[in-house]
Amino acid sequence: MRIELDQDICVGSGNCVISAPDVFDQREDDGIAFLLEENPSAERESAVKEAEALCPALAIRVHKK
Ligand code: SF4
Repeated sequence: MRIELDQDICVGSGNCVISAPDVFDQREDDGIAFLLEENPSAERESAVKEAEALCPALAIRVHKK
């Protein structure tokens, strides 16, 4: 699984951090999300998929390898 996060369209809502705190975090200065883990293990899949679904900016894309 590979995650793409488009920081140019992220609006800093923080939903992804709530859904998958092991995979996403937010910059302290402006709240824009960044990846802690670009290729998370399969056990994180449901949390990552939830983050993708709940992102209001559609900034997260999850790719199967
Ligand atoms: S859920 Fe989407 S818009 Fe919100 S912080 Fe995460 S990537 Fe950014």
